[in-house]
Amino acid sequence: MKKVLVAGGAGFLGSHLVDRLLRRSDLERLVVIDNLWTGTLDNLAHIRDPRLQVEVGAAEDLVTDMRFDEILHLASPASPPWYMRDPVRTIKANVVATMHLLNFLAPGGRFSFTSTSEVYGDPLISPQPESYRGSVDCTGPRSSYDESKRCAEALLFESQRVHGIDVRVVRLFNVYGPRTRLDDGRAVSNFLSQALTTGELTVYGDGLQTRSWGYVDDIVEGLERFFWRDKISYKGPLNVGNDREISVLDVARYITTLAPGSRIVFAPPIPQDPTNRRPDLTVMRGVLPGWEAATPYEEGVAKTLQWFREQMEHELTAPVAPGPVRLQASVKRPGPGSASVLAMRKRRRSQLA
Ligand code: UDP
Repeated sequence: MKKVLVAGGAGFLGSHLVDRLLRRSDLERLVVIDNLWTGTLDNLAHIRDPRLQVEVGAAEDLVTDMRFDEILHLASPASPPWYMRDPVRTIKANVVATMHLLNFLAPGGRFSFTSTSEVYGDPLISPQPESYRGSVDCTGPRSSYDESKRCAEALLFESQRVHGIDVRVVRLFNVYGPRTRLDDGRAVSNFLSQALTTGELTVYGDGLQTRSWGYVDDIVEGLERFFWRDKISYKGPLNVGNDREISVLDVARYITTLAPGSRIVFAPPIPQDPTNRRPDLTVMRGVLPGWEAATPYEEGVAKTLQWFREQMEHELTAPVAPGPVRLQASVKRPGPGSASVLAMRKRRRSQLA
């Protein structure tokens, strides 16, 4: 029977993995550690399994006598406005927490880590294979995230080389879907929040920059197979994503068709915004045969819109708590952040008045 630790288990991806881990019959105990920076206990509120233990705190500060057969480290913000706001904390979450969590691995244990396609920076080749070393700037605005993911990868691959530790590292391309925060600030979530509130979708720059948008269920299926379900001998980093590349403008345009009355507004470009991103899935197809991020963005975005609608309905009907606003994001660049949630609440108050 296995003891498993999920750092960041209350987050968007972490909580989906927790759901899947709890389907395992060989699981004795599942400990989640999450500081609720970008995660929320709402993501775990549906679980009634006594094997789950949730600890609120930072992964880099974990204190326990337990040793885990498997550690899955997902405790990092992934949205640029969130990680850019607190670079030191971002670096700690990736570098310090990886170093610290390795101490809690039982002999022969496995350490799984969600790295990012941002290790490729603003790539000069497309699609990007795992062997591409990237075009990254350690002085740039994304450095706290992309360089700390690179350093965490270095820690893990060196632990594998020097100490023979079993590591599983995925490089995730843009993931979206239910359980994204309403104030997450990334493209799909921003556009959906905006479509449902202000009606103005902020496209940064000309919107011709591209990404490969992966629907969460497909991505989590790949993670489950790679982290624990399949027997795998591959030891390197693995690209996980959808390899259909779509421009930001096309995604925004599509969302305006789902939310009549909404429209695109162009905002200034973001400094060092990668121009393109698309995974080369050759290695992936060998490692996880048959796996595919099969959900087309049109379908995934429509499902996510429905989930956002339900969450916003919930926000509107839940009592307005006195005291500090729950969503505190003060996003520097245009985005919904707390603004659209506050707008919803204002609208609600005026509806009630
Ligand atoms: N983007 C945008 N409007 C938004 C949010 C993001 O045009 O409201 C763009 C952003 O500039 C980038 C792309 O969408 O080119 C993807 O951004 P995201 O923050 O989702 O992730 P990234 O891949 O940049 O980490």
